[in-house]
Amino acid sequence: MKILGILDMDVETLEINGIKRPIKIHYEKRNNCRVSIRKKAINIRIPYFLSEEERHRQLTDLKQWAINQLKDNPERFKPEAQKEYKDGDTIAVGDNEYILKIGFKDKLGSSARIEGSAIQLSISSNLSKETHNNHISTLLSRCIAKKRIPELKERIYELNKNHFNQPLNKIFFKHNKSNWGSCSSAGNINISTRLLFAPDDVLEYVCVHELAHLIELNHSKNFWRLVEKAIPDYKKKIKWLKENGDKCTGSERKNHASSVKALANIKTVLV
Ligand SMILES: [Zn+2]
Repeated sequence: MKILGILDMDVETLEINGIKRPIKIHYEKRNNCRVSIRKKAINIRIPYFLSEEERHRQLTDLKQWAINQLKDNPERFKPEAQKEYKDGDTIAVGDNEYILKIGFKDKLGSSARIEGSAIQLSISSNLSKETHNNHISTLLSRCIAKKRIPELKERIYELNKNHFNQPLNKIFFKHNKSNWGSCSSAGNINISTRLLFAPDDVLEYVCVHELAHLIELNHSKNFWRLVEKAIPDYKKKIKWLKENGDKCTGSERKNHASSVKALANIKTVLV
């Protein structure tokens, strides 16, 4: 979800023991400072209204805390190696599973198509291992999007009709990595294509979340009441996203029960 209170974000890079990590600094409508270390990035959230001096002081303190954590626990925060796709891998897409069938051809481009419960990939044989994996990841997103987006748009209109009945302008699916979805005051809804790989109920929660913003363009109590009315166990979906969201890339996914708790360490400072 795009937090509507986010006013701005800076991205810096931190290098520790030869590993570069992005530090995302979110300036938000909030009263405390918070830093969390995730496998892909360090997120710092600070109030937007701090004076320059106070902001500098808080950032220095929070960054130092993160640096100490990373130095003291190198194994714990080791970034995950990029997923290597292999012929025969199983890929979770919504509530379905597909088998990857990877073939190589001596040609420039790569292509993919879905046939029943298999995704057939035809990959250029002249690629480095890394490019080869990137080709597969992009192709998977594209072919899943092509298959799922028309039915999902219908589903979003239906969810709106059933729960909110608000004017809904346009629905966009974008490969957005910074949020799961967003809603504009013009009545447009954006959903991240990363969610195409999430379980259907999680994807549906994000759609409902954004639709509820058509009524409440904030995260007030009334907003969460609207969400809860449509999805009583929405907190479970938020938990799933927090714990598994980084796996929504077309890589193999652990199921709900055996999901691995995301490695995160959080420091909160009240200001
Ligand atoms: Zn929201």
